[in-house]
Amino acid sequence: MDGSMTPRSAPVLILLGPPGAGKGTQARMLEDRFGFVQLSTGDLLRQAVAQGTEAGRLAKPIMEAGGLVTDEIVLAILGERLTQPDCSSGVVLDGFPRTTAQAEALDEMLAQSGQRIDAAISLEVDDVQMVQRIAGRFTCAKCGEGYHEQFKTPQVKDTCDACGGTEMTRRADDNAATVMSRLDAYHAQTAPLIDYYDRRGVLRKVDAMRQIKVIGESIADVVASETA
Ligand code: AMP
Repeated sequence: MDGSMTPRSAPVLILLGPPGAGKGTQARMLEDRFGFVQLSTGDLLRQAVAQGTEAGRLAKPIMEAGGLVTDEIVLAILGERLTQPDCSSGVVLDGFPRTTAQAEALDEMLAQSGQRIDAAISLEVDDVQMVQRIAGRFTCAKCGEGYHEQFKTPQVKDTCDACGGTEMTRRADDNAATVMSRLDAYHAQTAPLIDYYDRRGVLRKVDAMRQIKVIGESIADVVASETA
């Protein structure tokens, strides 16, 4: 409750940053710490591909090439997910928005439900190192916990710390050629959103070249102060 005694609407946070910046890892930490729901359009699209839906069929070749899936498909998938009841505890958007059109559509969707963006947190990283970061990452096939050969290894080799799962997977688009295309797409279409949110007064920058836990603490501080 804020000073005006009006109940505040569910927090909405955005994580911005190039592929490999750590958006997924940090979104999961925010889920654990604050009870928010991580909404990753990349995960939603990968699910659609795995399920063989019409949207998945259209998205697959674009994702494999490292391009951006159309705003129409992404907005439909995200819009549907946002109406599910668990989102009422607050959401962390990871990998969305990625274009100005998506950012404007998000503003509209939120306005319709009386919500607003509490903070757009930009994970500031050195691009050159993103290729190396992405090359080393893998995920638990059972629960989706993310790991990295160098920066976050499981305590027991090939066993997930979170759920005990023993099957680890690597994303098909985490190869060097596709990563370069994804970085290009980021600079051409997504980086302008840093200005977009700066102009709206909700941009917060966090140095994301530090240790995962230290970055997590900085982000948690931003979230605590912006959603208080
Ligand atoms: P990510 O898991 O966020 O790295 O996304 C993986 C791939 O899914 C991207 O390279 C895009 O092809 C697609 N994708 C994810 N989110 C979006 C989005 N908001 N807009 C367009 N394409 C997206």
